[in-house]
Amino acid sequence: MENKRRERWSLEGKKALVTGGSKGIGRGIVEELAGFGVRVHTCARNEQDLSNSIDEWRRENLEVTGTVCDVASRTDREKLMEEVSSIFEGKLDILVNNAGGGEFKPAIEITAEECSSCMALNFESCFHLSQLAYPLLKASGRGNVVSISSLAGVGATPLLAHYASAKGAVIQLTKTLACEWAEDMIRVNCIAPGVIKTPLAQWIIDDKALSAKVAEQIPLKRFGEPDEVAAVVAFLCMPAASFVTGQVICVDGGRAINLG
Ligand code: NAP
Repeated sequence: MENKRRERWSLEGKKALVTGGSKGIGRGIVEELAGFGVRVHTCARNEQDLSNSIDEWRRENLEVTGTVCDVASRTDREKLMEEVSSIFEGKLDILVNNAGGGEFKPAIEITAEECSSCMALNFESCFHLSQLAYPLLKASGRGNVVSISSLAGVGATPLLAHYASAKGAVIQLTKTLACEWAEDMIRVNCIAPGVIKTPLAQWIIDDKALSAKVAEQIPLKRFGEPDEVAAVVAFLCMPAASFVTGQVICVDGGRAINLG
């Protein structure tokens, strides 16, 4: 009984790809999974940041490797998955589609190029990497995909029309893949974070008046930490979550349910 419980809450020996792991939420996810004994491969565009992070993780005895990759590029994604397949010998237990981001702009001013590059970074990367990872996840026998969407993909967020649409598409992709891949024992879930303290959200935190206004709408009255998102990713990938698939979990201090 005790052994069974320990197995349910374990990720020991699993293999994971986490995109965008050198900073912010992705970094928190890399550290959380590696801390549970997962071999993690990650990627980022900036080579120096990535290699500094990998050195730090080595010093902490965390098993993490990395590739310089722009997930918005189709060829980079293909190269990344080839590398992952070679390092992990054709099997992947966990894919975390984390890399993403967006800029605030009135819908009417968003250019065709800005719209396409936002979709490529936030949606196509998740779709294509999930497609590329599919045979590796299937080979694992118990694969997991977790994509990082956003509260902007759940409710309306003015000035984020392109980003919100891409993040909404990630939610629909999650639900569809969860149904298509259930027979392959692959669970597919998604997290919608509220404001999390990362370099991406630093401008909100630095604007004291704005951050006080935003925090006031959050029942827990504060912003989240990357490890609070990472903990939910870890749970979703554990056998303990074996009956959870196709879900969108808001990690937002209660922001999405607050009608007050
Ligand atoms: P962040 O602080 O900007 O960190 C992003 C990480 O991803 C960095 O390691 C960055 O490294 C990497 N990255 C960015 N673009 C990439 C690309 N094209 N290819 C490969 N790697 C890339 O962002 P974050 O706040 O942690 O956000 C992580 C995810 O959470 C994103 O999908 C974001 O949309 C979502 N999210 C964040 C918040 C929030 O409040 N922070 C809220 C809702 C949703 P390089 O720059 O070196 O590439």
